[in-house]
Amino acid sequence: MSEPLFNRIAIIGLGLIGGSFAAAARENGLARSIVAGSRSARTLEQGIALGVVDDGSQDLAEAVKGADLVFVSTPVSAMGKVLAALKPGLSRTAIVTDGGSVKGNVISAARQALGEHYSRFVPGHPIAGKEKSGVSAADATLYRDHRVILTPTDDTDPAATAKVRAIWTAMGAEVLQMSPQYHDQVLAETSHLPHLLAFSLVDTLARQGDSNEIFRYAAGGFRDFTRIASSDPVMWHDIFRENKAALLQALGLFSDGIDRFRDAVEKGDSDALMGIMTRANSARAHFMAMNGRTSYTRAQLGEDSIMTDSSKANPTYLMTPGGKLNGRIRVPGDKSMSHRSIMLGSLADGVTEVEGFLEGEDALATLQAFRDMGVVIEGPANGQVTIHGVGLNGLKAPEKPLYMGNSGTSMRLLTGLLAGQAFDVELTGDASLSKRPMERVAKPLREMGAQITTGNEGRPPVRIRGGQPLKAIHYDLPMASAQVKSAVLLGGLYAEGETSVTEPAPTRDHTERMLGGFGYAVRRDGATSAVNGGGKLTACKLEVPADISSAAFFLVGASIAEGSDVTLPHVGINPTRTGVIDILKLMGADIRLENQRDAGGEPVADIVVKSAPLKGIVIPEALVPLAIDEFPAIFIAAACAEGDTILHGAEELRVKESDRIQVMADGLAALGVDHEVFDDGIRITGGAFGGGEVQSHGDHRIAMSFAMAALRANGPITIHDCANVATSFPGFAQLAGHAGLNLEVK
Ligand code: NAP
Repeated sequence: MSEPLFNRIAIIGLGLIGGSFAAAARENGLARSIVAGSRSARTLEQGIALGVVDDGSQDLAEAVKGADLVFVSTPVSAMGKVLAALKPGLSRTAIVTDGGSVKGNVISAARQALGEHYSRFVPGHPIAGKEKSGVSAADATLYRDHRVILTPTDDTDPAATAKVRAIWTAMGAEVLQMSPQYHDQVLAETSHLPHLLAFSLVDTLARQGDSNEIFRYAAGGFRDFTRIASSDPVMWHDIFRENKAALLQALGLFSDGIDRFRDAVEKGDSDALMGIMTRANSARAHFMAMNGRTSYTRAQLGEDSIMTDSSKANPTYLMTPGGKLNGRIRVPGDKSMSHRSIMLGSLADGVTEVEGFLEGEDALATLQAFRDMGVVIEGPANGQVTIHGVGLNGLKAPEKPLYMGNSGTSMRLLTGLLAGQAFDVELTGDASLSKRPMERVAKPLREMGAQITTGNEGRPPVRIRGGQPLKAIHYDLPMASAQVKSAVLLGGLYAEGETSVTEPAPTRDHTERMLGGFGYAVRRDGATSAVNGGGKLTACKLEVPADISSAAFFLVGASIAEGSDVTLPHVGINPTRTGVIDILKLMGADIRLENQRDAGGEPVADIVVKSAPLKGIVIPEALVPLAIDEFPAIFIAAACAEGDTILHGAEELRVKESDRIQVMADGLAALGVDHEVFDDGIRITGGAFGGGEVQSHGDHRIAMSFAMAALRANGPITIHDCANVATSFPGFAQLAGHAGLNLEVK
């Protein structure tokens, strides 16, 4: 057996938290002996009888003798006294830590009580508990899969912090580190305030007349809301007093919120009421999605300011080789159109109803941005969104930078749309988005008179100065990019005169089509699109078709897996997006479009695909911009085709969510697929390939493409870093599994 982390642990305050710490240390073999110090002989007897500790003393200095770790878990208000009492027994190298729910006051008390030993004090707080107290409630699994916050100060010995971190980790907890002030503020808002409100609501109602009568009719909501009022009043009394300043600040914020609510109720202001509740709804949805922990939710939760030990919430796909795809597969709504429906619906006059909205994180980032700018948006619920448009000039300044998560579309299109607003705004993104080029949109917008600055090397954050009059320009796009074209056209809505853009090759034209759908005139002439500024968007009903980029994985999967037969209903087949179908057909794929129809200005069809032998081709460069997002999937088709597939003219792939040429090449290499990388493309030689480990680098399309490769691999494929699949295709694993892919999410 390996050496335990500590020789002797002393628990001071053997209640729920201390008892559970002792039980977990025992169960995981983390100390040779565990003792307790308590003012009550009865508690010590109980602890020994339960097998939680070996021994104990009512004399605290006696209890900590020979201990190399002391864990203090008394009420916070008692900690100063307790630390002073145990100090004479401390050995020179002993580490002292605690589990108190408030950190600022405990740290001041420890500084005073411990004197020269203060540098060995590591303040901590396990975010785990129960409504029970006392050692009889001790639970060895209490901290497993829970968080523990450590708040070391500048004086804390880093080696001591590391050892405390190690013991919590060994108990199965996830350790976070933050400043004591931040801890107290966050806990005041998210734990102390809700407890105070629950106690207060029950008390307020109980004071009124016959409380029995009220509680008899109390519905489930009351029970849910007030569950935490069953917590230990002594402990909470203690916490409210000890975290006074932060709690009062949180209460102040809350009173402001209640005042806004009261005002809206009083005035019968349904826009304001819906605004508050829809924002709350979406904020809670993000909170609940925390376990999914994609880049978007992580930063929304402020975790960028927290250091965490573990990436365990980032799923890995374990693919068993073989299988085939069958059935009717309804893939999620089109991402490009979902983004634009929110943007144009927000700027329209009137109420826009959207169906088939993609509830992926990228489109949700756009939705949240407009909520932050004062637009009331109901939903999304089952793909339905109702947007209460504020008109072209009705957006309000957001209170904080707009967070775009992983979404390049949101950031680039919003840069254009916000260039002509009256207010300043800053756009930020996650680590991956923060590496993507933004000058390509900033440059033409500056020519229009916008004041935009970008970060290091032209990357996010993007800062836009408000109140700049824009003038129309003509812009010849240097690259075939729908995002840049759209940003300039959206800026053009606010410019004086006609703004026109000419593209070197056709790119997706959803912005132009949807502007038309909202009644905004767009002049289209060959490769040029143009808008006049100062017009008006009129609310409408929109049905977002299924996303061909998401369908692409199934087009490829069904083509390469023998015996497959799949129907993908209601997929958008806008000619600027169907490059993937054309390319796969050139390779010999059996793809048919059935039931072609028009849905709100966009062509849609049911796509039927059956397995077929594929052959390598030279991909026509004219098709490259029309299939730009689908190349990861096409590369997998190429790996299964007979002969060489050659791609050139696709340098744009290097600045997507990842460098898609290199990341795909690395993955293909891991599976043993013969290939050669070019600056602007790749050669892939098809044939049999094996299994292996693939890094998706957080790129959703890379992850899903390699998932499809498993249909033809000779060995299992492990795909890492798959959290961002939720950005474009929530529910992918489930849907693909249902269709026949052997996929396990770990
Ligand atoms: P608990 O079950 O009531 O245990 C508290 C322990 O502290 C008992 O062993 C008690 O000893 C001792 N104690 C009480 N008053 C004392 C005093 N004035 N002087 C010396 N010892 C005293 O409470 P708990 O839930 O474990 O909470 C302990 C600490 O953990 C608190 O600081 C709390 O803020 C923190 N915490 C609690 C939770 C939670 O959900 N419960 C979660 C995270 C952190 P006797 O048995 O001898 O009376």
